[in-house]
Amino acid sequence: SLNESLADISGDINVSFEFFPPKTEKMEQTLWSSVKRLAPLKPKFMSVTYGAGGGERDRTHEIVKRIQNETGVASAPHLTCIDASRDELRGIADEYWNNGIRSIVALRGDLPEGNPERPDMYAADLVELLKSQHDFDISVAAYPEVHPEAKSAQADLINLKRKVDAGANRAITQFFFNVESYLRFRDRCLTAGIDVEIVPGILPVTNFTQLKRFADMTNVAVPKWMHTMYDGLDEDQGTRNLLAASIAMDMVKVLRKEGVKDFHFYTLNRADLSYAICHTLGARPA
Ligand code: FAD
Repeated sequence: SLNESLADISGDINVSFEFFPPKTEKMEQTLWSSVKRLAPLKPKFMSVTYGAGGGERDRTHEIVKRIQNETGVASAPHLTCIDASRDELRGIADEYWNNGIRSIVALRGDLPEGNPERPDMYAADLVELLKSQHDFDISVAAYPEVHPEAKSAQADLINLKRKVDAGANRAITQFFFNVESYLRFRDRCLTAGIDVEIVPGILPVTNFTQLKRFADMTNVAVPKWMHTMYDGLDEDQGTRNLLAASIAMDMVKVLRKEGVKDFHFYTLNRADLSYAICHTLGARPA
């Protein structure tokens, strides 16, 4: 069985956890208790997203520094290039480096709504800029089910290759629920000569209504079985949480059996589900 075959291979894995800057005092407390709960699993890094809009880069920076100082875990700010000049980006790179930050998740960022203009910079250009400035460890985004703006799946794959050729150290995928799409994508990356880890981004789904909206925007397929699973649970957070863990555990077990060793968790600032899923993969507190 899957569980039996996993017993032989579990343990030797790398995990990373993603957080976002909290908006309220209460969410702030949740974030820090989650960081403390997950840190003993010795993640490769903890990353903090960056959303466009005044002041948020400072928030990202503050949280990243505090994670490193308080837990000793390497922390990676997400950095987008769509809303900054090259000079600003060089300044940010220096500031991060001088503050002991060695890892960055490099992204283009989303285009402002209703703005069809071609951006000046893509993520590949940001990777090149960062690498020419300092020898950061760089993660980039990958899309097993294709980025919504891409001309074709092939064009999107070539874009990922450009990011890796520019020096990216790994790719983290958009979340997905069809494990086959990830596995096929990983094969296509190999064939295209993309020689970095394609780390699956795991999203435990506790809010199905929100997920449907988000999946639609990001071109992620929500399989029929998931609609069936979450049907009737709109008012039942407890059962949704259990389902979220169970679905993600099933996914990571198959991925693990297919040789995946690195897992990135979209924690949404909560620790319990990611902790439990990591536990089933053999991760134990140091
Ligand atoms: P790119 O790799 O630049 O690709 C963007 C699109 O442009 C793709 O369709 C690509 O095929 C196409 N393209 C690339 N180069 C060219 C070219 N030369 N000519 C024409 N087309 C081209 N967003 C945030 O704002 N903050 C975050 O913190 C954040 N974190 C994320 C973390 C992960 C793991 C992931 C998967 C996404 C994250 N995002 C975040 C979302 C991301 O910013 C969006 O998906 C964005 O639309 C694309 O970013 P990218 O880095 O993949 O862009």
